[in-house]
Amino acid sequence: MSSRRKIAAGNWKMNGLRQALSEVEALHVSNPAPECEVVICPPATLIRSMAKRCTEMAINVGGQDCHEDSSGAHTGDISAEMLADTGATHVILGHSERREAYGESDAQVRAKTKSAWTAGLIAIVCIGESLTHREAKNTLDIVGGQLAASVPDAATGENLVIAYEPIWAIGSGLTPTLDEIVEVHNFIRARLVRRFGDAIGKAVRVLYGGSMKPENAAEIGALPNVDGGLVGGASLKAADFSKIVAAL
Ligand code: PEP
Repeated sequence: MSSRRKIAAGNWKMNGLRQALSEVEALHVSNPAPECEVVICPPATLIRSMAKRCTEMAINVGGQDCHEDSSGAHTGDISAEMLADTGATHVILGHSERREAYGESDAQVRAKTKSAWTAGLIAIVCIGESLTHREAKNTLDIVGGQLAASVPDAATGENLVIAYEPIWAIGSGLTPTLDEIVEVHNFIRARLVRRFGDAIGKAVRVLYGGSMKPENAAEIGALPNVDGGLVGGASLKAADFSKIVAAL
């Protein structure tokens, strides 16, 4: 149906000391499928060493956030340029944990995305509704609004990946029904095509995220307009993540 290559992206969040790098080697040994691009986003402290280990493997490394400025008086922050300098090729932006814990707005996510692109990074922009919004049947309004306001105009199929992550599904073991996932992914695709035209709108990969596991990755990954997964907990262990990569 489409030539979009699947992506299995692992979000390690604030997990992993140096010894966790062995998980990446174990993943390589278990042979990720070439049709599926693999990206791992470890804590910033591990990016450099992971990127070095991954030069020989078909695995890309990404950050989990960046500041919108390229440098300056922002204690504790990391710029997109710095991520690229450590060997990262991707960066997750607007994850709901950052939107909630740090009050990140769509405008900030948009500014960060521009900065990621300036540094040559691929932005994985996260959008998704809360349980309250889902129950109030506001999912498409929320997701549509976030998509419009978080993504800058210069999007292409190469520089942008969208991750649809219902907040209530993250780390909870809950997932939407397959029909609900399809409804949102079709909607995101339609909005991308409406805004960016057919060529770009159909080239941007749209990942599903939220309690993706070895048991559900194949059925979710086979849905129309689902181009892979953004995986939290199940990306930490090579044994689980390699099954997800294979399923996708
Ligand atoms: C995430 O945090 O991006 C995520 C999808 O987490 P989990 O897979 O653990 O639900």
